Amino acid sequence: MRRAGRVVRETLELVRSHVKPGVTTLDLEKVAEAHIASMGAKPAFKGYHGFPCVLCTSVNSEVVHGIPSQKRVLKEGDIVSVDCGAIVEGYFGDAAITVPVGEKIHPDTARLLKVTEASLHAAIAVVRPGATLGDVGAAVQGVVEAEGFSVVRDFVGHGIGTHMHEDPQVPNYGEAGRGMKLKAGMVIAIEPMVNAGKPEVVVLGDGWTAVTADGSMSAHFEHSVAVTATGAKILTE
Ligand code: MG
Ligand code: MG
Repeated sequence: MRRAGRVVRETLELVRSHVKPGVTTLDLEKVAEAHIASMGAKPAFKGYHGFPCVLCTSVNSEVVHGIPSQKRVLKEGDIVSVDCGAIVEGYFGDAAITVPVGEKIHPDTARLLKVTEASLHAAIAVVRPGATLGDVGAAVQGVVEAEGFSVVRDFVGHGIGTHMHEDPQVPNYGEAGRGMKLKAGMVIAIEPMVNAGKPEVVVLGDGWTAVTADGSMSAHFEHSVAVTATGAKILTE
């Protein structure tokens, strides 16, 4: 799983380096597809329940599951979330980043990205044997809501291993001390999806792209994280 995580991380960093005004989300897809193949890995998303691409690229008010397209040209001031999964010898890695396009994103949007990534790291910090899924969700929620943003409820993190989505579900909200206890050897994908406005999302007519119901900006960061005897080990770093 560390090897799969490395493929995902390298792919995301390569994609990040290609994000700039004038690039299309399909351009990013092509960069990712070639890199995953060059590493001898398989993409995890392409063909998953019929999803057509190796990346999810979700721009601005798109929350998750945006489909790369030649028609989607990134502009100065946009943000694009890039979610990537890879398979190495049957084991999965899954991670996401949200990247500013150009140099001039709105200060509130910059804060949304910073807070969303901070909420992911706050959640990872509580991961250890005996911690609960409620501890993980509460850690995300606490960071996000203290900044006046909202946690998406309709999509959650997940267990990951020889399948991309395994039990348990890992919500980005919850009450400390509640829910299943983590044990050494488990691997979970923690993935806060955070809206600048209200938490509600709507899925567009393509059957995939989830957008904020109020049109506000949305950010997404994700790591695949192993629970070890001494705490969290990030596999997609
Ligand atoms: Mg993902
Ligand atoms: Mg995931």
